[in-house]
Amino acid sequence: MSRRLIACEHCDYLHVEEDIPAGSVACCVRCGSPLYSAEQNRFDKPLALAVTALILFAIANTFPVLTFGMEGRVETNTLASGVVTFWQEGFPFLAFMVAVTSIIAPLLLIAAHIYVLLPIWRGTSWPGMKRVWRVLAVVRPWSMLDVFLIGLLVALTKLTDFAQVIAGPAFFAICCLIPTVLLMNVTLDTRAVWRRIAPSSLRYLDQDDLRESTMPISGAVARKHGLLSCHTCAMVVIEQENGPTKCPRCGDVVHQRKARSLSRAWALLLAAVILYVPANVFPIMQVTYLGRSEADTILSGVAALTAAGEWPIAIVVFTASILVPIVKIVLLGWVYLATYLGLAGPLRERTLIYRVTELVGRWSMVDVFMVSILAALVKLGNIASVHPGFGAVAFCGVVILTMLSAMAFDPRLIWDRAELKALKSRSDTGFERNQVEKQGTPS
Ligand SMILES: [Zn+2]
Ligand SMILES: [Zn+2]
Repeated sequence: MSRRLIACEHCDYLHVEEDIPAGSVACCVRCGSPLYSAEQNRFDKPLALAVTALILFAIANTFPVLTFGMEGRVETNTLASGVVTFWQEGFPFLAFMVAVTSIIAPLLLIAAHIYVLLPIWRGTSWPGMKRVWRVLAVVRPWSMLDVFLIGLLVALTKLTDFAQVIAGPAFFAICCLIPTVLLMNVTLDTRAVWRRIAPSSLRYLDQDDLRESTMPISGAVARKHGLLSCHTCAMVVIEQENGPTKCPRCGDVVHQRKARSLSRAWALLLAAVILYVPANVFPIMQVTYLGRSEADTILSGVAALTAAGEWPIAIVVFTASILVPIVKIVLLGWVYLATYLGLAGPLRERTLIYRVTELVGRWSMVDVFMVSILAALVKLGNIASVHPGFGAVAFCGVVILTMLSAMAFDPRLIWDRAELKALKSRSDTGFERNQVEKQGTPS
């Protein structure tokens, strides 16, 4: 039975890892975040799914996604067409972001899984497996083919009203690719992968290592025991007194807390707020239809879908493009402010809000993908054409900046600072002054 120590990545609370029934998830007793799922030591299923995903990805990139026919002219697009169109129309930032999120990151994600799982399954080892698995953690949030599919469906709805549109083989490949990647993630236990990659002589800290400590394990955070949790592979390590602490398993430098987390998160969020204005004022695309030209902003796009009676798609676009960015900015701002002030209160709920905003932010890319698909397909000059607008650049900037802001923030500060504030207010009345001095100020 495993008795290894594990620290919650959202609140730093220390737990002793236990064997749990298959299909269940162990959650942090303090903040409620998921800690680990039941150990799955099978690698054949996720490997087979990764190989299937690679084949589907190849089809998705080789064949046309949509074929657009109007006035006797036919236009087809592939996954890369949006990138090329953005580049040709003078929008290199959008070209880069669409390339990263719909092609480069998904490919790296699938390839990394095959590169690491194949040797594990065969019982051998390939060079650089650790580095590949480490890079995967950085790449994962930027792989957005699922969001791309929603953008594709929105574009399809907009086009079917005035032209003939046929879904190509790549469209169906993308439709199959999303559940395949999802299933691959569900069937794979990343902790088990780290244990297989790690040197067999590696010793994990367990409950016995804390026997010497005067502090009981329950109710204690890793920081108070001089322990750090690796942000990449979640291994608990002893903090080095002199110099940086290196994780013996993945090789990354381990920090007690993310450096200047709160100020970086604030700066990125404020930049997103500023960009939110041009994102809504400027058109995200210029649509020409039978000689008439019209500028579409995010809001007018939703209004047009509503007027056309496309309620389900209108609700999706409204939620992804208007509701999610505003709610995300407001909620993150509130979490940062409450953390800065060290407010007590519902810390569990605050952590949950942070986790949810971190998860849903990427879905706002729907509109950017939709513009990339329409601009690549509708190129019939005065009869019908779509050109990207500056609003799309600003909007893409808002999505990226809010994602980076949430990544910069260290949720453990929510708990650190609330606890520190409580201790300080108690010490003001004369008690526990020495405890405050002992803890220091987390930044
Ligand atoms: Zn926790
Ligand atoms: Zn590590």
